Amino acid sequence: MKRRTKGGRSLPVALAVLFLSGMLLFASGGEGKDAAASRPCRPTPADIEGPFYKPGAPARTVTGSGLVVRGRLLGIPDCRPLAGGRIEWWQTDRRGRYDDGHRGIQTVPPDGAYRFSTDFPGVYPGRPPHIHFKAAAPGYRPLTTQLYLGGGESEVEFDIVLVPAK
Ligand code: FE
Repeated sequence: MKRRTKGGRSLPVALAVLFLSGMLLFASGGEGKDAAASRPCRPTPADIEGPFYKPGAPARTVTGSGLVVRGRLLGIPDCRPLAGGRIEWWQTDRRGRYDDGHRGIQTVPPDGAYRFSTDFPGVYPGRPPHIHFKAAAPGYRPLTTQLYLGGGESEVEFDIVLVPAK
């Protein structure tokens, strides 16, 4: 009799626990969605400059064809667009050789957006295909980084997020 009573009680308790954990899952799922919708704002990691950087790249939007690279220059902590900032890129030609035809610089408009079309960088020994970047904006720490490509992309989006200078 006692056992049955206990059993009779434990069922509603188990249901309540299930219900509550369901609510928790639902609540955390909702939170996750919101967080994903607002995208966490994280600084773009720095990467090596390598031996082929050359200052003084010309301002332009085309260094080849077949691959479009676009994104926004943003700032920590809230990923605000860094109007007046600059992004600079350099890469190899399709055969894997660095040349002056594949270097460019852009000053970003108020929405922070940049876009250029280029050749798919060729491979050189020991490295995946990549495009080098430098980014800078007034009041922010300049960044040198790289965009890695898998192969075969025709368009890539690459936001660059800078950290305020201290
Ligand atoms: Fe390189």
